[in-house]
This record gives sequence, structure tokens and C-alpha cells, in this order.
Amino acid sequence: MQGKITYRTIPTTDPMFRNRGITMLSGSATEGMKLQSYIPVPDNVVLCDGCNTNLYPRAVDAVYINGELHGVYCKWCRERYFPRLGDLWNTQT
Ligand SMILES: [Zn+2]
Repeated sequence: MQGKITYRTIPTTDPMFRNRGITMLSGSATEGMKLQSYIPVPDNVVLCDGCNTNLYPRAVDAVYINGELHGVYCKWCRERYFPRLGDLWNTQT
């Protein structure tokens, strides 16, 4: 399946980057999931999904595939991995 790539530039001060955290669960679908730990991510840490650079307080390019958020990238990585808007992205894994 292929998806259509779009992106928009968002400031890292945008509310979407506040109050984030990494949730770690254990268990199974049949027995239920249990919260193991929750690691809060500081609001002033917004990492590029391409090169892991902290982009705060600069802007990021949020890349969407078929309208769903795929990741956030610095301008350099976004241009490297997603050079043209409207390109098709192979969503098969
Ligand atoms: Zn990057």
C-alpha cells in the first residue's frame, strides 16, 4: 500500500509537544496490559526522528502519510528523506 506524503512546519512551542511521555506496558492482549513505567519527556526536548537532534526551540517539519502523523524532522532530514510533497510512500513493512 502506498500513502501520500504531506508536511507542515510547526513550532516546537506548539501545544502538541507539551505533556508527552513514554509509556511502557507489560502483559498480553488476553491477560491485559499493566503499566510498568512512565517516563515524562520534557517540553523542551523535541527530537528529530531522522538525526535525533533536539530541535527545541526551533520549528520542525511534521510529516504526514495519508493525513496521519508519521514523524517530526529537522528541515535537513525532511528534505533528505521526503524531498517532494505529494510523493507516494510505501507503507508496507
Ligand atoms: Zn534531523
